Amino acid sequence: MRVKSARGVRPAVLVIAATDSSGGAGLARDIRVLTDFSVDALCAVTAVTAQSDSRVAAVHHVPPGVIRAQILAACETRRVGAIKIGMLGTRATVEAVVESLPPSAAVPIVLDPVLVSTSGGVLLDADGRAALLKKLFPRVTIVTPNVPEAAALLDEEPAGSEPALIQQGQRLLALGPRAVLLKGGHGNGEEAVDLLIARSNVVQRIVSPRIGATSRGTGCALASAIAAGLASGVSLVEACQQGKRYVTDMLSRAG
Ligand code: PLP
Repeated sequence: MRVKSARGVRPAVLVIAATDSSGGAGLARDIRVLTDFSVDALCAVTAVTAQSDSRVAAVHHVPPGVIRAQILAACETRRVGAIKIGMLGTRATVEAVVESLPPSAAVPIVLDPVLVSTSGGVLLDADGRAALLKKLFPRVTIVTPNVPEAAALLDEEPAGSEPALIQQGQRLLALGPRAVLLKGGHGNGEEAVDLLIARSNVVQRIVSPRIGATSRGTGCALASAIAAGLASGVSLVEACQQGKRYVTDMLSRAG
């Protein structure tokens, strides 16, 4: 997929995320996706994780001052067309990121609210979760929870129907992001339906056939693909649709 900005310069996305030594998720996945969209990656590493597909063995949190310095240096280096935020880990990291982001609305920000790995390792602690909701949510363009993440963020039970999911999406929207994309990949219907809820309260359904395969890093991939679209100047809806197509294709290749 070849994408160029209006001026013919390759767009760039700043990825604020952690490494995953298995390569399935995190920064390695993000960079692979951005490369597939012909978008350059700048990066600020929030944590170094030792992971296999079945466990999180160790996490080293990068000191907040180093996170701030990476974000500022990346933004000094070249024009950032969008920012993708992944694993943050702790309150101190959330705060360092919030303090270093460019002024509101200057650059679209895609937040993948990474809470727990598929293997069950906690990737954001309770204080970090509270800071994420209070301080980072109001700064972002779009947040992309799956069904269990939406429930955990609201401290509610996972929604069992589309209307209940839309209500949870609206409650997340009330915390400040400009849009919420609720990912339906954890459901079990024949179709995987993502719900894009914007401030207008218009709900856009983004549908793909359900693929009977799983892969590490699908959440990272979707958020990076959306950031690639936004950096390339496409609309939010189009960026979510092209992200969905990318992840569907990734899953069909994994199966
Ligand atoms: N590890 C890191 C560093 C991540 O950023 C993420 C998700 O963004 C995960 C693990 C979770 O990925 P998965 O659900 O594939 O385990």
